[in-house]
Amino acid sequence: MRENGNICCNDKKERVKRVEKNQICAICGKKGQGVLEATVKNLIKDEFKYKIKEKVYYLCMDKNCEVAYYDVYGEYIKANELKVPLWFKDGANPKYICYCNYVTEEDIVDAVVNKGAKDIKEVAEITGAMKNGNCKMNNPLGKCCGPLIKEIIKRELELKKK
Ligand SMILES: [Zn+2]
Repeated sequence: MRENGNICCNDKKERVKRVEKNQICAICGKKGQGVLEATVKNLIKDEFKYKIKEKVYYLCMDKNCEVAYYDVYGEYIKANELKVPLWFKDGANPKYICYCNYVTEEDIVDAVVNKGAKDIKEVAEITGAMKNGNCKMNNPLGKCCGPLIKEIIKRELELKKK
C-alpha cells in the first residue's frame, strides 16, 4: 500500500472540507450563511481589510457569538471589526434592517404601529427602506432585506391585533 504523504496537509484538507460541508463557525460551532468577498470587503473597517483573503465567507448568525464572518480555514472577522452593527447580534445599536438606506427596526415598527403601514410597500414609502438598493454590497448577508421587513411587519400587525 502506498503511503499517504504529508499527514499535516491531509488533516488541514479534511478540516477545510468539514467546514465547507457544514459551514460551521470556528467559535460557536453553529452553521453560518454564505456571503461573497465583495460584501465583506465593503462592510469591514479599513484597518482590517488586510484580513480578507478568501472569495467566500460565512456569516455567523448566532446572536451571542463575537464572530461576524469566517472562512473555511477557520480565520474570522469579528462583529466589531465591521463598519455597521449586525442586526441579529445581541446589543446591535442601531439595529439596521435596510442597510442601503440605514432604516432601523425601530423605524419599521414605528411605521406599522404609529403610522398605519400595513404592507411592505407602505413601509418602504414611509421609511425610505429598499430605495436604490445595492443589497449585494450593503447588506451583511449580501441579500435583499425585504423578507426580513415582511417578517417584522407581520409580527407587529399580529401584536396590534391583540
Ligand atoms: Zn459564531
